Amino acid sequence: MGILMPAVFFGHGSPMNSLQTNIYTESWRRFGQSIPRPKAILALSAHWYIQGSAVTGVTFPETIHDFGGFPRQLYEVTYPAPGSPELARQIQKLLTPLEVSFDEHRGLDHGTWSVLCHVFPDADIPVVQLSIDESRNAAFHYETGRLLQPLRDEGVLIIGSGNVVHNLHTYAWGREKAEPFDWAVRFEEEAKRLILEGKDIQLVDYRMMGDDARLSVPTPDHFLPLLYILGLRRENDRVSFPVLGIEGGSLSMLSVCLG
Ligand code: ZN
Repeated sequence: MGILMPAVFFGHGSPMNSLQTNIYTESWRRFGQSIPRPKAILALSAHWYIQGSAVTGVTFPETIHDFGGFPRQLYEVTYPAPGSPELARQIQKLLTPLEVSFDEHRGLDHGTWSVLCHVFPDADIPVVQLSIDESRNAAFHYETGRLLQPLRDEGVLIIGSGNVVHNLHTYAWGREKAEPFDWAVRFEEEAKRLILEGKDIQLVDYRMMGDDARLSVPTPDHFLPLLYILGLRRENDRVSFPVLGIEGGSLSMLSVCLG
Protein backbone atom coordinates (compact mmCIF):
# COMPACT_ATOMS: atom_id res chain seq x y z
CA MET A 1 0.00 0.00 0.00
CA GLY A 2 1.42 3.38 -0.98
CA ILE A 3 0.83 6.81 0.47
CA LEU A 4 -2.81 7.59 1.18
CA MET A 5 -3.91 10.38 -1.15
CA PRO A 6 -6.05 13.20 0.23
CA ALA A 7 -9.55 13.73 -1.11
CA VAL A 8 -10.45 17.34 -1.86
CA PHE A 9 -13.47 19.42 -2.71
CA PHE A 10 -12.89 22.66 -4.63
CA GLY A 11 -15.31 25.56 -4.84
CA HIS A 12 -14.68 26.40 -8.53
CA GLY A 13 -16.66 29.63 -8.95
CA SER A 14 -16.40 31.46 -12.24
CA PRO A 15 -14.60 29.81 -15.18
CA MET A 16 -12.72 33.13 -15.48
CA ASN A 17 -10.56 31.87 -12.61
CA SER A 18 -8.73 29.79 -15.20
CA LEU A 19 -7.34 32.99 -16.74
CA GLN A 20 -6.67 34.81 -13.49
CA THR A 21 -4.24 34.82 -10.63
CA ASN A 22 -6.11 35.53 -7.42
CA ILE A 23 -6.33 34.31 -3.82
CA TYR A 24 -8.27 31.22 -4.92
CA THR A 25 -6.02 30.21 -7.78
CA GLU A 26 -2.93 30.82 -5.64
CA SER A 27 -4.32 28.45 -2.98
CA TRP A 28 -5.10 25.84 -5.63
CA ARG A 29 -1.53 26.10 -6.92
CA ARG A 30 -0.09 25.72 -3.39
CA PHE A 31 -2.33 22.72 -2.80
CA GLY A 32 -0.94 20.99 -5.90
CA GLN A 33 2.59 21.61 -4.70
CA SER A 34 1.88 20.36 -1.17
CA ILE A 35 0.71 16.83 -1.96
CA PRO A 36 2.53 13.78 -3.36
CA ARG A 37 2.27 13.58 -7.15
CA PRO A 38 -0.88 11.60 -7.98
CA LYS A 39 -0.77 8.68 -10.38
CA ALA A 40 -4.09 9.87 -11.81
CA ILE A 41 -7.01 12.15 -10.96
CA LEU A 42 -10.68 11.28 -10.71
CA ALA A 43 -12.92 14.36 -10.90
CA LEU A 44 -16.57 14.69 -9.89
CA SER A 45 -17.78 17.91 -11.41
CA ALA A 46 -21.07 19.76 -10.96
CA HIS A 47 -21.00 20.24 -14.73
CA TRP A 48 -21.41 16.58 -15.63
CA TYR A 49 -24.81 16.22 -14.01
CA ILE A 50 -26.79 13.80 -16.17
CA GLN A 51 -29.23 10.91 -16.17
CA GLY A 52 -27.16 7.85 -15.32
CA SER A 53 -23.60 7.00 -14.36
CA ALA A 54 -20.77 7.27 -16.86
CA VAL A 55 -16.99 7.52 -16.86
CA THR A 56 -14.80 9.19 -19.44
CA GLY A 57 -12.89 6.53 -21.33
CA VAL A 58 -11.07 8.85 -23.72
CA THR A 59 -7.30 8.59 -24.15
CA PHE A 60 -6.93 12.28 -24.99
CA PRO A 61 -10.00 14.14 -23.66
CA GLU A 62 -10.81 17.49 -25.22
CA THR A 63 -11.35 20.65 -23.21
CA ILE A 64 -15.07 21.40 -23.18
CA HIS A 65 -16.08 25.07 -23.02
CA ASP A 66 -19.47 24.44 -21.45
CA PHE A 67 -20.62 28.00 -20.80
CA GLY A 68 -21.81 31.04 -22.69
CA GLY A 69 -21.22 34.77 -22.68
CA PHE A 70 -17.58 34.90 -21.62
CA PRO A 71 -14.64 36.60 -23.36
CA ARG A 72 -13.16 34.82 -26.37
CA GLN A 73 -9.92 34.19 -24.48
CA LEU A 74 -11.73 31.75 -22.20
CA TYR A 75 -12.79 29.62 -25.19
CA GLU A 76 -9.15 29.31 -26.15
CA VAL A 77 -8.06 27.78 -22.85
CA THR A 78 -7.08 24.13 -23.20
CA TYR A 79 -6.11 21.61 -20.58
CA PRO A 80 -4.50 18.82 -22.58
CA ALA A 81 -4.14 16.25 -19.77
CA PRO A 82 -4.37 12.66 -20.98
CA GLY A 83 -7.23 10.39 -19.94
CA SER A 84 -6.91 6.95 -18.43
CA PRO A 85 -9.21 4.30 -19.89
CA GLU A 86 -7.56 1.92 -17.42
CA LEU A 87 -8.70 3.96 -14.40
CA ALA A 88 -12.15 4.32 -15.99
CA ARG A 89 -12.42 0.51 -16.21
CA GLN A 90 -11.28 0.20 -12.61
CA ILE A 91 -14.00 2.62 -11.51
CA GLN A 92 -16.61 0.56 -13.37
CA LYS A 93 -15.43 -2.53 -11.45
CA LEU A 94 -15.38 -0.76 -8.07
CA LEU A 95 -18.95 0.41 -8.53
CA THR A 96 -20.35 -2.95 -9.71
CA PRO A 97 -23.26 -3.83 -9.76
CA LEU A 98 -24.03 -0.19 -10.56
CA GLU A 99 -24.11 0.25 -14.31
CA VAL A 100 -21.51 2.81 -15.32
CA SER A 101 -21.26 3.45 -19.03
CA PHE A 102 -17.89 3.92 -20.69
CA ASP A 103 -18.07 7.24 -22.53
CA GLU A 104 -15.61 7.31 -25.40
CA HIS A 105 -16.37 10.89 -26.46
CA ARG A 106 -16.80 13.10 -23.42
CA GLY A 107 -13.94 15.51 -22.62
CA LEU A 108 -13.20 17.53 -19.49
CA ASP A 109 -15.67 20.22 -18.41
CA HIS A 110 -14.76 23.55 -16.84
CA GLY A 111 -15.59 22.36 -13.32
CA THR A 112 -12.57 20.12 -13.75
CA TRP A 113 -10.14 22.08 -15.92
CA SER A 114 -10.67 25.60 -14.50
CA VAL A 115 -9.30 24.33 -11.18
CA LEU A 116 -6.77 21.74 -12.40
CA CYS A 117 -5.08 24.26 -14.69
CA HIS A 118 -3.86 25.90 -11.47
CA VAL A 119 -3.40 22.79 -9.29
CA PHE A 120 -1.38 20.91 -11.92
CA PRO A 121 -0.53 23.47 -14.61
CA ASP A 122 1.63 21.03 -16.58
CA ALA A 123 -1.49 18.95 -17.44
CA ASP A 124 0.62 15.79 -17.40
CA ILE A 125 -1.41 13.71 -14.92
CA PRO A 126 -4.20 11.57 -16.43
CA VAL A 127 -7.73 12.75 -15.60
CA VAL A 128 -10.95 10.75 -15.60
CA GLN A 129 -14.42 12.12 -14.82
CA LEU A 130 -17.31 10.24 -13.28
CA SER A 131 -20.75 11.72 -13.94
CA ILE A 132 -23.16 12.75 -11.20
CA ASP A 133 -26.46 10.96 -11.74
CA GLU A 134 -29.21 13.56 -11.35
CA SER A 135 -31.85 10.88 -10.81
CA ARG A 136 -30.30 9.65 -7.54
CA ASN A 137 -30.75 10.95 -4.01
CA ALA A 138 -28.02 12.55 -1.90
CA ALA A 139 -27.28 9.33 0.03
CA PHE A 140 -26.43 7.57 -3.24
CA HIS A 141 -23.69 10.11 -3.97
CA TYR A 142 -22.22 9.79 -0.48
CA GLU A 143 -22.27 5.97 -0.71
CA THR A 144 -20.66 6.06 -4.16
CA GLY A 145 -17.86 8.10 -2.65
CA ARG A 146 -17.38 5.38 -0.04
CA LEU A 147 -17.06 2.73 -2.75
CA LEU A 148 -14.28 4.75 -4.39
CA GLN A 149 -12.16 4.77 -1.23
CA PRO A 150 -9.64 2.09 -2.40
CA LEU A 151 -8.42 4.49 -5.09
CA ARG A 152 -6.93 6.72 -2.40
CA ASP A 153 -4.53 3.90 -1.49
CA GLU A 154 -3.41 3.61 -5.08
CA GLY A 155 -2.21 7.13 -5.64
CA VAL A 156 -5.39 8.45 -7.25
CA LEU A 157 -6.36 11.97 -6.26
CA ILE A 158 -10.13 12.30 -6.12
CA ILE A 159 -11.49 15.81 -6.46
CA GLY A 160 -15.00 17.15 -6.18
CA SER A 161 -15.69 20.43 -7.96
CA GLY A 162 -18.78 22.51 -7.20
CA ASN A 163 -19.68 25.20 -4.65
CA VAL A 164 -21.06 24.63 -1.14
CA VAL A 165 -23.15 27.79 -1.55
CA HIS A 166 -24.22 28.34 -5.18
CA ASN A 167 -27.09 30.74 -5.76
CA LEU A 168 -26.70 32.51 -9.10
CA HIS A 169 -30.13 34.12 -8.74
CA THR A 170 -28.87 36.30 -5.88
CA TYR A 171 -25.31 36.55 -7.25
CA ALA A 172 -24.06 40.11 -7.77
CA TRP A 173 -23.17 39.86 -11.47
CA GLY A 174 -20.68 42.43 -12.64
CA ARG A 175 -20.20 44.20 -9.33
CA GLU A 176 -16.71 44.19 -7.88
CA LYS A 177 -17.56 43.75 -4.23
CA ALA A 178 -20.71 42.36 -2.68
CA GLU A 179 -21.13 41.54 0.98
CA PRO A 180 -21.97 37.87 1.55
CA PHE A 181 -25.61 37.25 2.41
CA ASP A 182 -26.05 36.28 6.05
CA TRP A 183 -27.75 33.00 5.05
CA ALA A 184 -24.77 32.13 2.86
CA VAL A 185 -22.34 32.79 5.70
CA ARG A 186 -24.45 30.81 8.16
CA PHE A 187 -24.82 27.81 5.85
CA GLU A 188 -21.13 27.72 5.02
CA GLU A 189 -20.21 27.97 8.73
CA GLU A 190 -22.63 25.20 9.61
CA ALA A 191 -21.24 22.99 6.83
CA LYS A 192 -17.68 23.57 8.10
CA ARG A 193 -18.71 22.75 11.67
CA LEU A 194 -20.42 19.51 10.61
CA ILE A 195 -17.41 18.49 8.50
CA LEU A 196 -15.00 19.19 11.38
CA GLU A 197 -17.17 17.21 13.79
CA GLY A 198 -17.52 14.28 11.37
CA LYS A 199 -21.29 14.72 11.12
CA ASP A 200 -21.34 13.93 7.41
CA ILE A 201 -24.79 12.37 7.52
CA GLN A 202 -26.33 15.70 8.49
CA LEU A 203 -24.86 17.17 5.31
CA VAL A 204 -26.22 14.26 3.28
CA ASP A 205 -29.58 15.36 4.72
CA TYR A 206 -28.91 19.01 3.81
CA ARG A 207 -32.54 19.43 2.75
CA MET A 208 -33.45 19.21 6.43
CA MET A 209 -31.21 22.20 7.23
CA GLY A 210 -33.91 24.83 6.77
CA ASP A 211 -34.09 28.10 4.86
CA ASP A 212 -30.33 28.70 4.82
CA ALA A 213 -29.89 25.41 2.94
CA ARG A 214 -32.78 26.16 0.56
CA LEU A 215 -31.17 29.47 -0.41
CA SER A 216 -27.60 28.14 -0.49
CA VAL A 217 -28.36 24.95 -2.41
CA PRO A 218 -31.28 25.86 -4.70
CA THR A 219 -30.30 22.97 -7.01
CA PRO A 220 -28.21 19.95 -5.96
CA ASP A 221 -25.61 19.94 -8.79
CA HIS A 222 -22.91 22.10 -7.15
CA PHE A 223 -23.38 20.65 -3.67
CA LEU A 224 -23.31 16.92 -4.48
CA PRO A 225 -19.59 16.74 -5.37
CA LEU A 226 -18.91 17.54 -1.69
CA LEU A 227 -20.81 14.41 -0.62
CA TYR A 228 -18.48 12.17 -2.66
CA ILE A 229 -15.51 13.70 -0.88
CA LEU A 230 -17.10 13.19 2.54
CA GLY A 231 -17.81 9.57 1.54
CA LEU A 232 -14.08 9.15 0.95
CA ARG A 233 -13.24 10.13 4.53
CA ARG A 234 -11.04 7.80 6.58
CA GLU A 235 -11.05 7.74 10.35
CA ASN A 236 -7.65 9.37 10.78
CA ASP A 237 -8.05 12.04 8.11
CA ARG A 238 -7.22 15.58 9.07
CA VAL A 239 -9.72 18.19 7.91
CA SER A 240 -8.52 21.47 6.45
CA PHE A 241 -10.08 24.30 4.46
CA PRO A 242 -7.37 25.46 2.06
CA VAL A 243 -9.62 28.13 0.50
CA LEU A 244 -12.23 30.36 2.13
CA GLY A 245 -14.35 33.20 0.81
CA ILE A 246 -17.74 34.04 -0.65
CA GLU A 247 -17.89 35.74 -4.05
CA GLY A 248 -20.68 37.98 -5.26
CA GLY A 249 -22.72 37.50 -2.09
CA SER A 250 -23.80 33.94 -2.71
CA LEU A 251 -21.01 31.82 -4.22
CA SER A 252 -18.85 30.02 -1.67
CA MET A 253 -15.29 29.30 -2.75
CA LEU A 254 -14.70 26.97 0.21
CA SER A 255 -12.31 24.08 -0.35
CA VAL A 256 -12.37 21.03 1.90
CA CYS A 257 -9.38 18.72 2.15
CA LEU A 258 -9.47 15.37 3.94
CA GLY A 259 -6.21 13.57 4.66
ZN1 ZN B 1 -20.05 25.67 -11.76
